[in-house]
Amino acid sequence: MHILLMGPPGAGKGTQAANLVKEFTISHISTGDMFRAAIKAGTELGKQAKACIDAGNLVPDEITIGIVRERLSQDDCKKGFILDGFPRTVEQADALTEILSDLGLKLKSVLDVNVPSADLVERAVGRRICKSCGATYHIKFNPSKVEGVCDECGGELFQRPDDTEETMKNRLSVYDAQTKPLIDYYTKAGLYVEVDGRQEIGKVFADIVDILKD
Ligand SMILES: [Zn+2]
Repeated sequence: MHILLMGPPGAGKGTQAANLVKEFTISHISTGDMFRAAIKAGTELGKQAKACIDAGNLVPDEITIGIVRERLSQDDCKKGFILDGFPRTVEQADALTEILSDLGLKLKSVLDVNVPSADLVERAVGRRICKSCGATYHIKFNPSKVEGVCDECGGELFQRPDDTEETMKNRLSVYDAQTKPLIDYYTKAGLYVEVDGRQEIGKVFADIVDILKD
């Protein structure tokens, strides 16, 4: 089963990906992991990517696409994968279509775990994290028993500096601008399915499994 997973930052995409990997025994492939693996393996593209990153530059599309091709050509991907963080542009989506066709693979679905921006801002602004154990809370949806104190370890809770309304709104508008053309692209391809990410985590997952078992 070959799936592409989309969703705005903070929509809980990572949790859903982890559950899908377990449910269907497929590989989770994220851009960050791909880069790290290619760099570690010392492939030619890995070396080029590392040079860009070390110089503080963005990795150009042709290198990113090459690394995706390398990764998706590996044996574990035949059985299935969840691709996460790629493509980010229509050019990359075209490249992915070509790579999959070369490898004889076919996307089953493009799942978009969607949560309205206003909800994501509220989630981010209310998020609190334990300094000691990393447990996460939310002042409204999942408060600790004692304000500012971790239930698990008694550690102090803090707010991440980028969990502000302004930062979140910026990130979301960048995401929306980037993603809109991809939604059109995969809608035309008959692959796009939106999942209501406002629901409780287990319900979101059940909806995804229903879609994939169809
Ligand atoms: Zn803690």
